[in-house]
Amino acid sequence: MRVIFLDLDRTLLGDDYSPKPARPVLKSLVSEGFEVVLNSSKTFAEQEYYRKAWGLEGPFIVENGSAVVIPEGYFPFDVQGVRRGGYIFIELGERYDRIKRILDHLAPEYGLRYYGNCTLDDVMAFTGLPENLAGLAMKRDYSETIFAWERPGFEELLSDRGLRVSRGSRFIGVTGSTDKGRAAVELLRLYSRLGRVESYAVGDGKNDFPLLDVVDHAFLVGALRHRRAKNISSIDELLEVVL
Ligand code: MG
Repeated sequence: MRVIFLDLDRTLLGDDYSPKPARPVLKSLVSEGFEVVLNSSKTFAEQEYYRKAWGLEGPFIVENGSAVVIPEGYFPFDVQGVRRGGYIFIELGERYDRIKRILDHLAPEYGLRYYGNCTLDDVMAFTGLPENLAGLAMKRDYSETIFAWERPGFEELLSDRGLRVSRGSRFIGVTGSTDKGRAAVELLRLYSRLGRVESYAVGDGKNDFPLLDVVDHAFLVGALRHRRAKNISSIDELLEVVL
């Protein structure tokens, strides 16, 4: 079985966040028998939107490895986790409330701007997200995204409080002690109970590196380098290298 983990921002999605351009690639991967798993800093609500647009029905990984989300009944064996709304959540990250409390404390001194202290209009301005998607991005369960800051030095303070700070393709992500790779390993462990698994991953940012470290075949879109990853110019090139 072949499992492929895909990042969203600047991997499957361009600057307009439209699901349209990536649809043919995803269709091809699914029809070739790949299990397609979104693995992104985006929230459960945002990923539900894209999964629906692309007709994906399998597991996915939200908020930079904070939770593996598995539709109930997807695996033919019992999976341990929190059951909610037809899904099982394997929670690896930190509660959003705690992360927000820590950021709220540091925000005045460092001039931090993040979802939790922004209005819907602010979020649209920082991210370029259309109104519907900005609303979905604000429904956070396990992580924050720092859009802007006036002074450096806050990253160390967040690490001192047990949080993980990672550079995504656009902004700085703040999560509990987890990453996209750790979450992928958890999910691959479940897939391997079904048979031999060959794993793939595609990303574009530093926060994808832990994911590229743990798969059999790693790919990076763009110019960033990773010791195990093959560079491709765009997601459209992916089919040429994996099929
Ligand atoms: Mg990205």
